Amino acid sequence: MFCPLDCWDSCKLKVKSEKLKVKFEGDSITPYLCWKLNNYFKFPSETTPKYNSKNIMLNETLDKLADILKNKGPKRVLFVKGSGNMGIMQNVTKLFFENYGATFAVGSTCDGLGEEGIIKGRGKSLILPTWIIKNAKNIIIWGRNPYVTNIHLIPMIKDKFTVTIDAIETKTAKNSDLFIQVKPNSDFYLAILLAQMVIESEQYEVSDNFDEYKKIVFSYDKKDLMKKCGINNEELMKLFEIIKQGGAVLTGLGTAKCKECWKTTWAIDSLFYMLGYFGKKDRGVAFLGSSGYGINNPFSMNHKNKVPLWDVNLDDYEVVFVQAGNPLVSFPNRHEWQKLKNKTTVVFGKYMDETAQIATLFIPSKDFFEKKDVRGSYFHEYVITNEKCKVKNEKCISEYELTKFLMNEFGFTGLKSEDEYIEEILNADLEKTGDEIYRKRVFDKPPYSDGFFTDNGKFKFLNEDFEYNKKPFEIVTAKHDKALNSQFQRDEIIYINPNSKNIMLRWVTENIPEKRVVFTENIPENIIYAKGGSVINEFINCKGENAYYEIH
Ligand code: SF4
Repeated sequence: MFCPLDCWDSCKLKVKSEKLKVKFEGDSITPYLCWKLNNYFKFPSETTPKYNSKNIMLNETLDKLADILKNKGPKRVLFVKGSGNMGIMQNVTKLFFENYGATFAVGSTCDGLGEEGIIKGRGKSLILPTWIIKNAKNIIIWGRNPYVTNIHLIPMIKDKFTVTIDAIETKTAKNSDLFIQVKPNSDFYLAILLAQMVIESEQYEVSDNFDEYKKIVFSYDKKDLMKKCGINNEELMKLFEIIKQGGAVLTGLGTAKCKECWKTTWAIDSLFYMLGYFGKKDRGVAFLGSSGYGINNPFSMNHKNKVPLWDVNLDDYEVVFVQAGNPLVSFPNRHEWQKLKNKTTVVFGKYMDETAQIATLFIPSKDFFEKKDVRGSYFHEYVITNEKCKVKNEKCISEYELTKFLMNEFGFTGLKSEDEYIEEILNADLEKTGDEIYRKRVFDKPPYSDGFFTDNGKFKFLNEDFEYNKKPFEIVTAKHDKALNSQFQRDEIIYINPNSKNIMLRWVTENIPEKRVVFTENIPENIIYAKGGSVINEFINCKGENAYYEIH
């Protein structure tokens, strides 16, 4: 069985029953679990369906959903899926809504922007298998805090020389051998600075458009770059010496927070391509890799009707079907999502969260351990299944069961059995390494050792300039160790340095309730630091498919 949460580790776990209580325990590749799963049942789910906040029976809920969809018609229906459960079977509902003709809100709150830059250079964003991380001499953690977000990485790197590059002195930074503190959203400039040094050293690898890249690299002035990053020559030289030796570069969401930051992940890849980091057994670069690579996704489709998530205008829809998400809290563009209160909002989920509370119809979904499913990981090379699920829960409904009901109700054909889908997902080059766990054989070789996933199979260097518009103050968002998105125990505080510029202090006073502000000199000046988006998302506005976190 797997933990379904939107987390790097994708833990394998066992379910134990003790004194009539269900408990989870770590298993095989992840022998222990984090605070969230250890406290899972302290956050009770809602198992009673509701219509206008009144309890109703599950069969009544399903009839009401069918009536709503029949009466309003597909043109007025928007489908929005959050990332509350990362199992592939969760996507089966898309089969019905695609047949029905709804519009899909497509995009990401999280890694989409950084992935965009990686795809430009490599064609696909792949994980770095754990055996390569274990082989690596040095670990370079760039814009990521694995002590909080990826705890099973820590034992793999504890005896290695570790460098952390970040805007905030995180727990990971404190536990590193070298901490390079950069200004927020300046990672592009650091990658360019190091690229200048690599090219000047005359030991580097090239690809087709290298000359174009070199021109961009040297269009920046070294002193200016150092000022923009906020680092000194000594730090720069130390970092340069380490990256020349090779290692595993583990980048995180901290590198891709601003609108143009897709160029940052591309600049980082271009730097390490020159240094020969790809296709090797003891080095590599990984962001959040594709969890679906090496397995099949029977629900992957090109939607007939779609809209970029951050361009959604809810005035265009009457019905919004929200699955496993809490847009009222987790999404930027909050002013737009507030309109859900005036729509026929259907929430299909587990918790009575802010969005469920305002929903016209609440459909309780079965819990992850009550349904069959499969998940990959954006960190490791394993695939974990929930194949032997025996729990009987008749009050709630799984994604597959809801889809089956709707397909029948609307006379749509083509839905396969649950087991057929599971088989299809796993019909890939996998080695069964234990009960409900497989290893992707595609990662027996280093990623990209047979070339890149670009048109000509070669790496494509960065060919775009980047000019970050410096702001009077910056937002830095991170994860909290006791919360995931809007689930569990949120940290609804912003942290600021009291010595920051007046313009920022004034903005905070005018916009954030006093009880939500903590003053600390541990945060650099002129930064608003938030662990999670519940407070700050109110002020973040984005456009397009991929969210970025800037105050305008
Ligand atoms: S939230 Fe992450 S670390 Fe915690 S149990 Fe789930 S996958 Fe593992």
